[in-house]
Amino acid sequence: MSLNVHSIPIFNDNYVFILQSEKDVALVDPGDFLSVNRAIIQLSLKPNFIFNTHHHWDHTDGNLSFKNAYDLKIYSSKYDMVRIPGVDIGLVDGQKIYFGDTFCEILFLPGHTLGHIAFYFPQESCLFSGDTLFSLGCGRLFEGTYIQMYQSLKRIQKLPPKTQIYCTHEYTQRNAAFACDVDSKNLQLKEYVSKVENLRKMDKPTIPTLLQTELECNPFLRCHSKDIQDYFQLTDCSEMDVFKQLRDLRNQY
Ligand SMILES: [Zn+2]
Repeated sequence: MSLNVHSIPIFNDNYVFILQSEKDVALVDPGDFLSVNRAIIQLSLKPNFIFNTHHHWDHTDGNLSFKNAYDLKIYSSKYDMVRIPGVDIGLVDGQKIYFGDTFCEILFLPGHTLGHIAFYFPQESCLFSGDTLFSLGCGRLFEGTYIQMYQSLKRIQKLPPKTQIYCTHEYTQRNAAFACDVDSKNLQLKEYVSKVENLRKMDKPTIPTLLQTELECNPFLRCHSKDIQDYFQLTDCSEMDVFKQLRDLRNQY
């Protein structure tokens, strides 16, 4: 089994991932045609799949141009088939996609949008999480409820800690200031943030991030933490209450 992943930065802070296993090549969330196609040509690849995590334009604007240029099939969640251009196949939770000599499983993760999915490769321990989990943060709630997002994050939290999280945005440094504010006693967080700062100084990506690191440092995965509950002066609260406070405060940050 094998899975090669190429990260292509587009726009200000998006990543498009080019996946390769044997003769199969997939583009995850191609929000732009020209810049991604340039990378594909340089790598001498021919994509035969597009995997869309959700319908936002910065993840899907390249779809139709790629469909014109290559013989490929576009996969999205079944929910998003009517609002993502060019979709051929609608996916539901738990579905398997065979890809080269490996496969991925679909996780239905509503919250950021109502049709959001992630592509999980268990054999390679890789998750393409779109705009659900970010390093040190999580996606905004454009369509879903707090409960939906909280439960979606819980599902990611239960994956093996060695899972590499390929999220679509380079927001880590921006998220770090907020995380340090609400979880100021967290030494692992401080250590991770200095690593992030060094990477960004050298213009290097912080993505993928390890789930283990997120479990230790990402406040949205640490709603059980007494320190974060104290920050909000919450007593006798549920993790869901903490999550709601975190998400609301992050929106104003
Ligand atoms: Zn989005």
